[in-house]
Amino acid sequence: MFGSLPKEELEKIPFKFMYDFHCDDSGCQGHSMMCTDWEMAETYRKWSSEYGDGWKQAFLDRWESEMINLNDTHFYVGTLSDHPKAWIIVGLFFPRKEPQARLLW
Ligand SMILES: [Zn+2]
Repeated sequence: MFGSLPKEELEKIPFKFMYDFHCDDSGCQGHSMMCTDWEMAETYRKWSSEYGDGWKQAFLDRWESEMINLNDTHFYVGTLSDHPKAWIIVGLFFPRKEPQARLLW
């Protein structure tokens, strides 16, 4: 913390990742929130170097399709001190969806 500066400059992620969604409010007109989740940023950093141009589809499969279709996704949200009225997603909680119940006879 008080030692020397990092040896390498930190990489800036060249994208703002956003989620568009509707909440449970019956009058919801939709939300669009920036997501600063650490794991999502690391996925970008790792897959963009491993997959080349294919990183974007793999990224969307993981952070869009899986979050909608396979996971019961919840957001941890917060605000920034400079923008106390602007909410952002700071993390995700995404347990797998329960398998649908079967009818028992
Ligand atoms: Zn809403």
